[in-house]
Amino acid sequence: MNKRIGIIGAGTAGLHLGLFLRQHDVDVTIFTDRPPEAYAGLRLLNTVAHHSVTIEREIALGVDHWPSKKYGYFGHYYYIGGPNPLKFYGDLRSPSRGVDYRLLQPRLMEEFLNRGGKIEYKELTAEDVPTVAARFDLLVVCTGKGPLGQMFQHQPDHSPFEQPQRALCVGLFKGISEAPIRAVTMTFSPGHGEMIEIPTVSFGGMVTALVIENIPGGDMEILAKTKYDENPRAFLDLLLNKLRKHHPTVAERIDEKEFDLANGPLDILQGGVTPTVRTSHIILDGGKVALALGDVQAVVDPVLGQGANMASYAAWIVGEEIIRHEVFDERFCEHVNLRRQDRVLGATRWTNYMLTNLRLLPVELQQFIFALSQHRDLADEFTDNFNYPERQWDCFASPERMRAWCAKYQRTESPALALAENAELSMQ
Ligand SMILES: Cc1cc2nc3c(=O)[nH]c(=O)nc-3n(C[C@H](O)[C@H](O)[C@H](O)COP(=O)(O)OP(=O)(O)OC[C@H]3O[C@@H](n4cnc5c(N)ncnc54)[C@H](O)[C@@H]3O)c2cc1C
Repeated sequence: MNKRIGIIGAGTAGLHLGLFLRQHDVDVTIFTDRPPEAYAGLRLLNTVAHHSVTIEREIALGVDHWPSKKYGYFGHYYYIGGPNPLKFYGDLRSPSRGVDYRLLQPRLMEEFLNRGGKIEYKELTAEDVPTVAARFDLLVVCTGKGPLGQMFQHQPDHSPFEQPQRALCVGLFKGISEAPIRAVTMTFSPGHGEMIEIPTVSFGGMVTALVIENIPGGDMEILAKTKYDENPRAFLDLLLNKLRKHHPTVAERIDEKEFDLANGPLDILQGGVTPTVRTSHIILDGGKVALALGDVQAVVDPVLGQGANMASYAAWIVGEEIIRHEVFDERFCEHVNLRRQDRVLGATRWTNYMLTNLRLLPVELQQFIFALSQHRDLADEFTDNFNYPERQWDCFASPERMRAWCAKYQRTESPALALAENAELSMQ
């Protein structure tokens, strides 16, 4: 059978699926609302780091244009503030890598076109979907967080939120020197929020992404509401003050004279993400299937950097199942879902757990963080598991599992872990 597949959306989900299908000579058309040449003039889209599991897929697709040995980062520094701050580090087994999507996505679109993929440029609405679907054997909808995805129903039992859990202020900056090891820094200011610093490739080379995740009502929330454009100097001064107070291990590496948005005023993004899981597919009038993929199916807050990685993983599975099947019906969707759900739901549940519990700091999480700070092997495993959110959820799904995870390291060698049994970090 000569399969014809339609994909709406040219993000990571649509492009990784499209490139995979072209490698298998499948006839694919992507519909998207902007051409490659529009990307350079866009506001910052996000600040995505691809973990090594995603980079391996990019290598297999022949689109690893920023090799992680040169552009990647090698681990995570952690800082937990409070009266007795904790600092520690964990290694990744293979590097992760951040590339500005305004560079990466148009490059992948061009690769897709060069390999015989077709792209039609138009903004589609839900009303267009049945007509588009009629042209294909299967339609995959991966339009990200926008309104089109709402044609798939919200599933509150998997992700209960109705609104963003953090007020985000995200930017690409210059004037922040690298830490001794090129790494992500994850810093936590109890009661106020988290910040993730990511070494990132942008238009002029390496810059620093700051993903500032502010708890509504906390001291940092103002950063999500203050406009850089209205008074850049006042914004930068406010930001510097807040970083010194809440995220000092990053603030101490800032050269205040150099510190600014890296490429200009479009390098900042403010707002919030409502974590949402949606139904995996719908049957359209006429019987065709529309399959949800990427953020359309499951969108998570960026605090743990999972969204694009799980979108790529799911795209690969959808691609393999398209190759394997001749009929694209409910049974096809069932096969896709059985294979993708552990990672997608694992990432969702682990991210939602962290969003909620980094605020509440239950005793078992305090003990776990303390154990991480004491035992490098545990910190390494926790860090590398950013590649495998389902393994992370195996460890976080209940207090018993968290205790068992710590005990595994305690039994092997560390007397220091015994302290964790009694430790309650005074972090508020
Ligand atoms: C600040 C921030 C930081 C992040 N950091 C990370 C990270 O470190 N690691 C990580 O894995 N994830 C991260 N994410 C999440 C990641 O950006 C998303 O999960 C991922 O980009 C989703 O990919 P997608 O292909 O599903 O959707 P998108 O990348 O949103 O792609 C959607 C595509 O559909 C097109 N489109 C939209 N509407 C229409 C329409 N109506 N008609 C036609 N085309 C349409 C768009 O132009 C685009 O091509 C972050 C997100 C944010 C906001």
